[in-house]
Amino acid sequence: MTDNHPIPTTTDAGTPVESDEHSLTVGPDGPILLQDHYLIEQMANFNRERIPERQPHAKGGGAFGHFEVTQDVSAYTKAAVFQPGARTDTLIRFSTVAGERGSPDTWRDPRGFSLKFYTSEGNYDMVGNDTPVFFLRDPLKFQHFIRSQKRRADNNLRDHDMQWDFWTLSPESAHQVTWLMGDRGIPRTWRHMNGYSSHTYMWVNAAGERFWVKYHFKTDQGIEFFTQDEGDQMASADTDYHQRDLYDHIERGDYPSWTLKMQIMPFEEARTYRFNPFDLTKVWPHGDYPLHEVGRLTLDRNPTDYHTEIEQAAFEPNNLVPGVTLSPDKMLLARGFSYADAHRARLGVNYKQIPVNAPRVPVHSYSKDGVMRVVNVHDPVYAPNSKGGPRADSEHYKPVGWHADGDMVRSAYTPHEQDDDWGQAGTLVREVMDDAARGRLVSNIVGHLLNGVTEPVLQRAFEYWSNVDKDLGGKIEAGVRAKAGEKDPKAAEQANPARESMQAKA
Ligand code: NDP
Repeated sequence: MTDNHPIPTTTDAGTPVESDEHSLTVGPDGPILLQDHYLIEQMANFNRERIPERQPHAKGGGAFGHFEVTQDVSAYTKAAVFQPGARTDTLIRFSTVAGERGSPDTWRDPRGFSLKFYTSEGNYDMVGNDTPVFFLRDPLKFQHFIRSQKRRADNNLRDHDMQWDFWTLSPESAHQVTWLMGDRGIPRTWRHMNGYSSHTYMWVNAAGERFWVKYHFKTDQGIEFFTQDEGDQMASADTDYHQRDLYDHIERGDYPSWTLKMQIMPFEEARTYRFNPFDLTKVWPHGDYPLHEVGRLTLDRNPTDYHTEIEQAAFEPNNLVPGVTLSPDKMLLARGFSYADAHRARLGVNYKQIPVNAPRVPVHSYSKDGVMRVVNVHDPVYAPNSKGGPRADSEHYKPVGWHADGDMVRSAYTPHEQDDDWGQAGTLVREVMDDAARGRLVSNIVGHLLNGVTEPVLQRAFEYWSNVDKDLGGKIEAGVRAKAGEKDPKAAEQANPARESMQAKA
């Protein structure tokens, strides 16, 4: 249609609308009439436009693309999506964790890296992050962790004291907090960061052999980051910088890509490996388990409707295909419930019928009715039945997993030889970062601690960092004491009783 022959406006029922500009009134100045259905429909729909935002990962953006297999990993998995030559349509959503839907893209935070593969065997989701580890290893603490990162009850403000209180009382967070406070804590763009499964999954090949695996999506654009100052400046200059960057690059045909590489551990090695391979706060050092290339993910299509395609996109770690399954990682097992439950709460029980979430293969489930069911259900509506309804193929599809037994307990994982909360964080500081990166790490942590962290949390933070690395801890304490002193010498004295007593002696 041209401007001379525009598309005629209709109501949501498709009936012609009489005016885009004037409500129906009694005379030009008269009262508005209740039978102006179009006006009422517009006002009522507007009032219901917002749906609950995600809790957490509320701020994000995404795009469509495809995943192409470039190497043969059929020795490790039978999943169709990873077989030689396979090309699978994909959806990705990037996000920050703690901020609300309108929060700046360049705040220091981990980034979500969620993928949906529309495979020939149904949808396969990988709900990853841009970090290889996480703050916690037990799902009982997750809700508390997120609350500590969000807003206080009294003044509705975010609060560094609350964040460090939780972190310093949860030493298993040290590896991820070190990562977060380092350069990668503010990626320059979504295109310039890696994506990791973080969790360990199981792959199963056609012969039924099992392997433990971790996914690494390595950015082909190279790693780039913002310093704290650059991130702060961008947060005020362009709140939506990451979203804009992705959209603009795809729009002009500059398609970002990531190379998928896997770490693969033979099934039996998990028991005796020096780290617990299911502990989400640990990586598997590359020296122990090198990366195997699998294929390439390319993003080449922007959404046309953010709400229906990205805001209503629902990723869940329990969307698994034959050849890929979960592992004993307790965080992963709990996410199998919590993600689907979040979608039911946020989008309604039939969220898998929203086109972006619907698989590209026929669905033959026995789910029935519920709010917003739009796909017809056919009889018979129960199983078993003798009326021609779908039947599970138990001969070809069998449960795969691992042996588990024991008394019912509430306990940490069985320790492995080198499990501790500080070691891998210390390796990151001492062996991966160079002097300049370590300098920025100290400055980022000092700046964060000076922003409202009070005793006794502050003292615990110094001990926390000394446990990661003695030298690092010393520099952080000295940096905080010096800067606090510049700002408020009295407060610095109160915050440092040791120095006060030394001064008294002098
Ligand atoms: P490697 O030297 O083989 O790997 C070091 C890894 O660190 C590389 O993957 C690199 O990613 C990444 N890296 C570089 N700079 C930073 C940074 N500022 N913040 C976070 N990650 C960074 O050593 P190991 O495998 O033995 O691991 C040593 C430490 O490296 C670990 O304790 C862990 O903290 C960190 N790490 C390890 C990963 C793993 O899966 N093994 C993954 C990511 C981090 P890239 O190659 O993309 O530049």
